[in-house]
Amino acid sequence: MKANCWTGRNTVEIERVPDPQILNPRDAIVRITSTAICGSDLHLYDGYVPTMKKGDVLGHEFMGEVVEVGPGVSNLRPGDRVVVPFPIACGNCWSCEHELYSLCENSNPNAGIAEKLLGHSPAGVFGYSHMLGGYPGGQAEYARVPFADVGPIKIEDDLPDEKVLFLSDILPTGYMGAEMCGISPGDTIAVWGAGPVGQFAAASARLLGAERVIVIDRFPHRLRMAREHTGAETIDYAETDVLEELREMTAGRGPDACIDAVGMEAHHPNPAMYGYDRAKQAARLETERPYALREAIMACRNGGVVSVIGVYTGLADKFPMGALMNRSLTLRTGQCHTQKYLRPLLDRIRNGEIDPSFVISHRMRLDQAPRAYEMFKNKVDDCTKIVLTP
Ligand code: NAD
Ligand code: ZN
Ligand code: ZN
Repeated sequence: MKANCWTGRNTVEIERVPDPQILNPRDAIVRITSTAICGSDLHLYDGYVPTMKKGDVLGHEFMGEVVEVGPGVSNLRPGDRVVVPFPIACGNCWSCEHELYSLCENSNPNAGIAEKLLGHSPAGVFGYSHMLGGYPGGQAEYARVPFADVGPIKIEDDLPDEKVLFLSDILPTGYMGAEMCGISPGDTIAVWGAGPVGQFAAASARLLGAERVIVIDRFPHRLRMAREHTGAETIDYAETDVLEELREMTAGRGPDACIDAVGMEAHHPNPAMYGYDRAKQAARLETERPYALREAIMACRNGGVVSVIGVYTGLADKFPMGALMNRSLTLRTGQCHTQKYLRPLLDRIRNGEIDPSFVISHRMRLDQAPRAYEMFKNKVDDCTKIVLTP
């Protein structure tokens, strides 16, 4: 079959790879009908994850038609349409029983590598390097889905792929980011990042009762999308001092909760605003990492919540622990426990509360993945989210 493979820093290539096979009684094989590129794929593309190997099949956001099931899968049969959640979860371990699916204890055969880096191992993830299990991803014609009796959710024929595909990751992720804020009526929620994840965090904050949502980014097309589709107010961080602006918008107090939907590759909020010479500026840029998270912490009102759904690996130095401690802030974070949100969010899609397809800016063929990655990385051609069709 054809698949989109990681072939090195800033390169992906369509390659011929063996068709996936049932390896375990609880596996299913899915023929992929739609798959998307995620901000998390950019961390791999940009070379931030050292456990990728040349030829690894990318992709963790996908859906399709079941073509084969192992003898242990009784809830699915060939012909069923399913969306597949990105964390692979067994359904039986302590974490799964506590709905912490992205921390499943039985789905990462390479747990040792992750334990060294993270203390304990998270779940295996499709297309996300050998540290997370080395599972081939879904930017391909077919995928093997382990624990298929637990993860995939069946989709009725009247719902098109574009309305449900993002249940695989970014809709539940944005929703979890908003849910972690513990929103009360009247709250103001600020969201760093107007990427697809930030868009859904903003939309979910409104669904959960926030009175005001403020989205921060520098790309006009993404800020416009947030205003038009989530009812958010927006701040362009390249034009404005974000901390000052947020203080002004909230009568000096700061947002009740702040969501980091950017992650470790955040750009500096506004290098031009610091009047330093180049060498000093470069030094300052380094010590101010991680930019978006630092800003979220510094902006949050006393006693508020900082919700981190942007991805981090390794160490985030110069972390403003003093602000968290001295201002009674709560920090919440996690890879999304996607399985927990599938049914409730599918219900919200079905009853018209949200149509996630608004984030799609481009539809392309799987063959065009190399160009699509370039476009999505550089946010050119008003790119926000690309859906690929095998
Ligand atoms: P994206 O790259 O499309 O969007 C990121 C946005 O952040 C961009 O629009 C960029 O302009 C903006 N940005 C950069 N620096 C900024 C700054 N200093 N202030 C404000 N905005 C800034 O990516 P995405 O698909 O929306 O994903 C966003 C993050 O969410 C990524 O880190 C991704 O890995 C993560 N993610 C996490 C989970 C999870 O389970 N927790 C799931 C999916 C994605
Ligand atoms: Zn994703
Ligand atoms: Zn488990």
